[in-house]
Amino acid sequence: MNLAWAIAGAAIGLPLGAVARSTVFQLSVPSGAPDRSACPRCCAPVPSWPALRCGYCGSSFGRPGVLELVTAAVLALLLGRFGDSPQAIPFAFLGVLGVVLAAIDISVQRLPDRLVLPAFPLLISLLSLTAWLEHDGAGLARAVLGCLALGAGFLVLALLRPGQLGGGDIKLAGLVGLAVGWLGWPAVMTTAVLGFSLSAVISLALLAARRVSLSSAVCFGPFLLGGALIATLVAGH
Ligand SMILES: [Zn+2]
Repeated sequence: MNLAWAIAGAAIGLPLGAVARSTVFQLSVPSGAPDRSACPRCCAPVPSWPALRCGYCGSSFGRPGVLELVTAAVLALLLGRFGDSPQAIPFAFLGVLGVVLAAIDISVQRLPDRLVLPAFPLLISLLSLTAWLEHDGAGLARAVLGCLALGAGFLVLALLRPGQLGGGDIKLAGLVGLAVGWLGWPAVMTTAVLGFSLSAVISLALLAARRVSLSSAVCFGPFLLGGALIATLVAGH
């Protein structure tokens, strides 16, 4: 762990986390509904961007500090892991996007296509740039294969057990597969195993605490992203 880069990651993560909180607030709407444009408390129009606080009644959008700290922690871990390697850029991009996606999935159980789909060409471009800078064409090929493997794996699981995994989870698996595929097959396997294990453990804990019932939908995105983060931190590359 590179301490100087970890501190830099935390410092960059705090303001990016505020941007993440604004994005999460605006996009945490049911499928097909328009973005939130009014304050939930007083219905005044939301300031254009970043939407962090109502200009009329002063109430905060989202809990201040939470996403800021989570984003800072994720970037501290990733930049500490990769240091000054060009690999830090694609992984930091997916790290910040992952915080936004996990928060939206927790609040409204969906992973908006508007965020996930454009991330594919962006992440592929960043990985291509990394492959070029590091002279690692094989890494890029692994990334594409990781994307196909994880996406196809989740598609098969979704077909076998309808209702457990949604289309958003399959697309996110493909996106995450790009990044962990870059790191190699052990990281792809670790991501899948950790995603399902974390999901099972937390779901059982929530059931035991009677926070959810057997029939309630529990989002999967945060566990997949959490598994990918851990796999990225422990992968040897
Ligand atoms: Zn207000």
